[in-house]
Amino acid sequence: MFAIQVRNVAKMYRLYPAPAARLKEMLAFGRRSYHEEFWALEGISFNVERGGVLGIIGPNGSGKSTLLEIVTGMLEPTRGRVLTRGRIAALLSLGAGFNPEFTGRENVFLNGEIMGLSRQEIESNFSRMERFAEIGDFMDRPVKTYSTGMYVRLAFAAAIHVNPEILVVDEVLAVGDAIFVNRCIQTFQELRQRGVTVLLVTHDVGLVKLLCDRALLLMDGHILAEGDPDNVVNRYNGLVLERQRAFDQATPSPMLSGPAAEPLENLQYTYRHGDRQVVVVKVELLNESNRPAQVFHSGESMRVRVAVYFREHHPCPVVGMMIRTRIGMDVFGTNTELEDASPGPGRPGEFCEVTFTFPCWLTPQEYTLTVATQSPDGTSHDWLDGVLSFHVIDSRRIAGVANLHARVTTRKLPSRSPMPA
Ligand code: ADP
Ligand code: MG
Repeated sequence: MFAIQVRNVAKMYRLYPAPAARLKEMLAFGRRSYHEEFWALEGISFNVERGGVLGIIGPNGSGKSTLLEIVTGMLEPTRGRVLTRGRIAALLSLGAGFNPEFTGRENVFLNGEIMGLSRQEIESNFSRMERFAEIGDFMDRPVKTYSTGMYVRLAFAAAIHVNPEILVVDEVLAVGDAIFVNRCIQTFQELRQRGVTVLLVTHDVGLVKLLCDRALLLMDGHILAEGDPDNVVNRYNGLVLERQRAFDQATPSPMLSGPAAEPLENLQYTYRHGDRQVVVVKVELLNESNRPAQVFHSGESMRVRVAVYFREHHPCPVVGMMIRTRIGMDVFGTNTELEDASPGPGRPGEFCEVTFTFPCWLTPQEYTLTVATQSPDGTSHDWLDGVLSFHVIDSRRIAGVANLHARVTTRKLPSRSPMPA
């Protein structure tokens, strides 16, 4: 029995070169068109069995969100049709769903009523939902005062506590902290046991392997692969690698002598702070063959190369780096002071290059790189949070973030031997 049937769905958006074009077209009453057609989805067909968990992956702009909006009925397909059986709860892109002026409590009730629950049903679920959301007193404050994390926690809690038969989730797990994501993962597993059908869009291919029993790879609005999550994820990784190769070929090998001509110095970058006494002018992630890369095999030698420029004299500059997961967990960080590799005093106008080389024994997922120049007392001179990101791929399956290379031995115990206490 299918909970979701998608039949040959296509979605066309009209792209207008300028806002005025839309008006011109209206005034022409169909005699002339001023738009271009853009097909965000074409020929999409698939089924999801009741209780199935389908992961949808694909690069940005491949049509994942559009597809979810069509499945939930928020968006009409241009062609084709969608059949769903059962109550659908959706957690789509941020901003949709809650009224910012209402309190969390008011929104939860409103949301529940829209979903067809009685007030009594909502009340009986409320305390469980509240515990899950963990937003404390904010429950009675307007949603517009929430942080992104609080918003997502409440939205997720509200969505799963309306007893949906189908749950549709778009990328929201990416903004939660690790504890919340963990709780969501447990909840997904409970939902699966209860026979809830789940459609999950995420960048986290590890999550797809963990949670989904089928996966679908979208690319430019078409289904490129469908089936067993391991195979589909491998196909996706292959795609990412191909892009990386194309990028490698298009980019000349990096100049290893001296910083680039257009330094990062003037980069207006949101997550940057510091007094700029010692400025980061170039950051590179290099692979084993010394080429800039965004994709690394687990265990491959990774090089983080940071070039800094001294605007002023500095007696003992410190250059550091940090790798984090996409959900912001610190994975590995070090600096020239901790490693006893101080570059020594810097004179005004001088450049210095620091290279961190290490085997990248991380598990497959996306990571970000943060680099900084500091003083030994911790003063930040130039701190660039998440300045680069990279993917780690691996054909082995390992849980967690680090591969610690366990050596595993097993032996059978003689059956007469006493049982260990
Ligand atoms: P994904 O979620 O996979 O990143 P989307 O479904 O958001 O992809 O978008 C698919 C494509 O459709 C993108 O190229 C996007 O720019 C385009 N698109 C999405 N919404 C609209 C819209 N309202 N009008 C025009 N183009 C849109
Ligand atoms: Mg999207």
